[in-house]
Amino acid sequence: MEPLQSLRGMVDLLPERIGLWQHVEATAREHFRMAGVNEIRTPLLEVTELFARGIGEATDVVGKEMYTFLDRGERSCTLRPEGTASVVRAAIQHGLLGQGPQRLWYGGPMFRYERPQAGRQRQFHQIGVELLGFADPRSDVEAIALAWDLLADLGVQALALELNSLGTPEDRLRYRGELVAWLEAHRDWLDVDSQQRIHTNPLRVLDSKHPDTQALLAGAPNLHDALSPGSHERFQRVRQGLEDLGIPFSLNPRLVRGLDYYSHTAFEITSTQLGAQATVCGGGRYDGLVGQLGGPATAAVGWALGMERLVLLLEQSGSAPAAVGPDLYVVSRGEAAERRALALTRQLRQAGLAVELDLSGAAFGKQFKRADRSGARWAAVIGDSEAAEAAVVLKDLRGETAERRLAEAELVEALSRMGAA
Ligand code: ATP
Ligand code: MG
Repeated sequence: MEPLQSLRGMVDLLPERIGLWQHVEATAREHFRMAGVNEIRTPLLEVTELFARGIGEATDVVGKEMYTFLDRGERSCTLRPEGTASVVRAAIQHGLLGQGPQRLWYGGPMFRYERPQAGRQRQFHQIGVELLGFADPRSDVEAIALAWDLLADLGVQALALELNSLGTPEDRLRYRGELVAWLEAHRDWLDVDSQQRIHTNPLRVLDSKHPDTQALLAGAPNLHDALSPGSHERFQRVRQGLEDLGIPFSLNPRLVRGLDYYSHTAFEITSTQLGAQATVCGGGRYDGLVGQLGGPATAAVGWALGMERLVLLLEQSGSAPAAVGPDLYVVSRGEAAERRALALTRQLRQAGLAVELDLSGAAFGKQFKRADRSGARWAAVIGDSEAAEAAVVLKDLRGETAERRLAEAELVEALSRMGAA
């Protein structure tokens, strides 16, 4: 029978790479703990309407990337393509917003039906932060600093922060009018996707990946010029805050999020080492979203980073932590020895040692080869004579110390003296 394959764009994460993922996750968890950001876990599956309302019908994500199906109860369900809508839904559903501002983070798989390529998958993983109930410009700075410091602490290099302000919904409405008029006048020179967006989602034209469109847009009305004095001042305070923290940034007036509930700060963290899929982390302020999803008007700011792209960066720059083997590898041969080895392994684990037990029943030589490959520093060897005396031979797999025969009962102490436990 032909062996089955995973679905296209659905990627297995094998043990040899998992160490780096766990390192990233543990570092993120620690950063969030230090910053008082609490974890929230929401279902992978939600009613489709949540994303239609929470991300917007006019976006690529909702328009053509969602995994949507009818469940057995004929309800339209969607595998979550991002985390924010679910987190906001959960916060509303459980009344979290009535308990004061919430600093939340989430991590896990997201699903988008896209064309798979390096750094782009159909199941991918994000870590994200949502600060709900925070309006002050300092919260934008805090959110950005959380992402920046996490990436810097992980050792990601060649990072750049791009920043923009979308102003208030009124600012944007005014700008939208100017932009649509300009796009109409230049329609014939736009790529087909952008032409289609003129009336559905004109701001998204600004971040078209099409080079000719990009060149043409140099002459388009500038969002920055459309900001009200209040929005300008708010943006100034965010920039000042970043400067105070020594976080470098550049302004990019074409960095937009096309939806009405976004306001003020929008940002992206990119790396020149990623090629086409350069954005590691994206986020911004979304003061209108909680209201849009039926909750109380709530200011909010957040971001999401892509784990696959982050891990690619870390692998490229060689900042991946080395794999760690067990403390001890247990080698045994002969029926009595194998029984003792099984019991000893369990005892040693209960005493806090990481122990790998060879279950092959193969010749000692083969077991020793595997012991070497395991990365363990020590091997405990049990043969017939050791089994008869409840003894083990402790062997230094690096060959730095002579092998010794010990009573089983002495083993934990001996290993801890030698720095293994
Ligand atoms: P892109 O422009 O690369 O498609 P996006 O604007 O769709 O990104 P967001 O929705 O802002 O991305 O998601 C935040 C981050 O999640 C991205 O910056 C990226 O690192 C990661 N990401 C998004 N889509 C994918 C994907 N299909 N595969 C892997 N990572 C992804
Ligand atoms: Mg995308």
